[in-house]
Amino acid sequence: MPTYEYMCEECNHEWEEYHEITRDPTKVCPECGKESAKRLISGGSGKGVVTLYGGELKAKIKDDAKKLSRDAKTKESVYANLLGNDKYQEIQSRMDKNKPERNEALKSFKRKK
Ligand SMILES: [Zn+2]
Repeated sequence: MPTYEYMCEECNHEWEEYHEITRDPTKVCPECGKESAKRLISGGSGKGVVTLYGGELKAKIKDDAKKLSRDAKTKESVYANLLGNDKYQEIQSRMDKNKPERNEALKSFKRKK
């Protein structure tokens, strides 16, 4: 479990907490009991890495997934990356193989009509 640093904006009390990454941040300060706790972004290396968790994390994952699936629809390379190259090639060759069959199926369907 990661350690999170908190600071109270009311009384400036600072403390650390261990909790699951998916848990929502603590709001209440254990010192003064006010809802003024603020989680400090531990930016150790300071490379723009922000640790998200709870609702924020879920929203971010959802957002990323949405963006990724959108990109995958328009960019072949993103799609290939997402699947891994082997899987991508496999699917592509299967799709190519299925194409004539599908056309045949469509043709015979039209004939029957
Ligand atoms: Zn406080």
